[in-house]
Amino acid sequence: MEWETSLENLKKRIQQLKKKRPGYKEILNFYQKIREEQEEVKPSLKIKSIPLKKEWKDLLAKEGFSLLEKKDFPLDINASLTLFRLLCEIGKKANPRMAEQVEKIEEGIDNKKMDLNKALTGGFEEGKIEKIAKEFGLDKTVLLFLIQESIRPSIEAGTKKLLNELNAEAWLKGYCPICGSLPSLSLLKDAEGKRFLLCSFCGYQWRVDRFFCAFCGNKEQDSLHYFCGEGEETHRIDTCDKCHQYIKTIDARNIEIIDPVLEDLATLHLDLLATQKGYRRPAPSPWTP
Ligand SMILES: [Zn+2]
Ligand SMILES: [Zn+2]
Repeated sequence: MEWETSLENLKKRIQQLKKKRPGYKEILNFYQKIREEQEEVKPSLKIKSIPLKKEWKDLLAKEGFSLLEKKDFPLDINASLTLFRLLCEIGKKANPRMAEQVEKIEEGIDNKKMDLNKALTGGFEEGKIEKIAKEFGLDKTVLLFLIQESIRPSIEAGTKKLLNELNAEAWLKGYCPICGSLPSLSLLKDAEGKRFLLCSFCGYQWRVDRFFCAFCGNKEQDSLHYFCGEGEETHRIDTCDKCHQYIKTIDARNIEIIDPVLEDLATLHLDLLATQKGYRRPAPSPWTP
């Protein structure tokens, strides 16, 4: 699993992608800056352990329930808020729309009216963040993006603590066994092309059948198709004609995947094609709304 991304390898891959697709230069620079800050906080994160009782775990697995809810992931709130301010700085220079939003956010925080500490106490809840966005007249996608990227190191550290609790090959369902979220990507791995799904929230990867729509459970080969971009056999769009939804698949047998989210971000043109063909993406990453 790609749990220990080395920043150096990540930067190399970003360099390659920028050369290959110059149109993505700006967004890839932005991505790199944010990933650099996230990597920086990782070594000093303080994350509580997540207690799981065996009986409880077995019961959940039997009933098909995931282990946690999003808000159950322990957060290092101080580290997340420090990161939040750093990401705001990066956002300010990224583009005018982001800059305008960040200014409003900083104003809210500096007036002590916007209390993100309080909002994150008790864990991440989308509803709470959306409420703040509404209260302060903010674009909720921007605020959610900044918050989610600020807590990402905490969330991933929590997921890492749970890796030994689960068998990634046994679950086989269309939603994450840890947090119940939908997958944002699918990955083909090993010589035999085992298929894994990547959780859009916690980053966990679990195995599913090759012919399977994660969103409606469809297993009929006749209605499951895929298409690639030109000259891009490693990245493709898997469509389902039953629910008219799609997932992006990265074939990790031919390329080394340093960071699946990066690969996703650098192939937004495939999402555009899928949308034009009338398919919907149920669970984008915060990077690909
Ligand atoms: Zn998850
Ligand atoms: Zn489907």
